[in-house]
Amino acid sequence: MTRKAVEIRIEDLHLSFGTTEVLRGVNMTIEPGEFYAFLGPSGSGKSTLLRAIAGFGPTPRGRILIGGRDIAKLPPWKRNVGMVFQSYALWPHMSVRANVAFGLEERKVARKDIGTRVESALELVGLLHLADRMPSQLSGGQQQRVALARTVVVEPDVLLLDEPLSNLDASLRIQMRRELLSLQRKLGLTTIFVTHDQEEANTTADRMAVLDGGVIQQMGTPQELYDTPANLFVAKFLGTAN
Ligand code: ADP
Ligand code: MG
Repeated sequence: MTRKAVEIRIEDLHLSFGTTEVLRGVNMTIEPGEFYAFLGPSGSGKSTLLRAIAGFGPTPRGRILIGGRDIAKLPPWKRNVGMVFQSYALWPHMSVRANVAFGLEERKVARKDIGTRVESALELVGLLHLADRMPSQLSGGQQQRVALARTVVVEPDVLLLDEPLSNLDASLRIQMRRELLSLQRKLGLTTIFVTHDQEEANTTADRMAVLDGGVIQQMGTPQELYDTPANLFVAKFLGTAN
């Protein structure tokens, strides 16, 4: 499943809902293979930015380059981007195996290859033994692992995760955080992880961007942001200011 990791570059991105501009000039480069966190309070624009990369929502102004190709104006299905949401949204009437196979069938992958790809994706998330269960027979954590398997099985260029652990209880969240990171390292996929939890960003991210009001307040490694917050907002949000 391993492919060459790609860079994500965002240039002067603006996005409005009606007359309200909610992304106000975003510029960033995410290196190939990075685990990158978008961190910020509720309403800061994290999901909007992630969805703009995936191709959902209003068309933005500016450029979004994935592996050097500007995808900002392409429909979602031409972007080869994989996204996992807070709610797992598995097909309730389909087995785990069928849920994971669905995207491959849609893409007309040869039948003989589907079985092996589905099994290796389920193996990757440790759920091969539950392949024939229905989603309702799984725990929340297991359902989210299936959602991950379903996303990576189609071999996206980048992995976008919008608060994927927020529905899980605290101890499971910490365990899944580690699993997610180890999965990402195995695949080497350029990954963006959205969270409002600074601890979650701090313990996983190679680098992160702190957003507020649709503007990136600071980017850097967790260490850099904690040691030298760029402004009072960042310091307060990371809990380093009094
Ligand atoms: P976050 O994910 O950081 O909580 P969002 O990206 O969801 O923030 O929202 C950023 C801003 O955009 C908020 O002010 C929100 O109210 C607004 N917004 C998000 N989605 C819509 C929408 N579909 N229509 C109008 N405004 C929206
Ligand atoms: Mg959000």
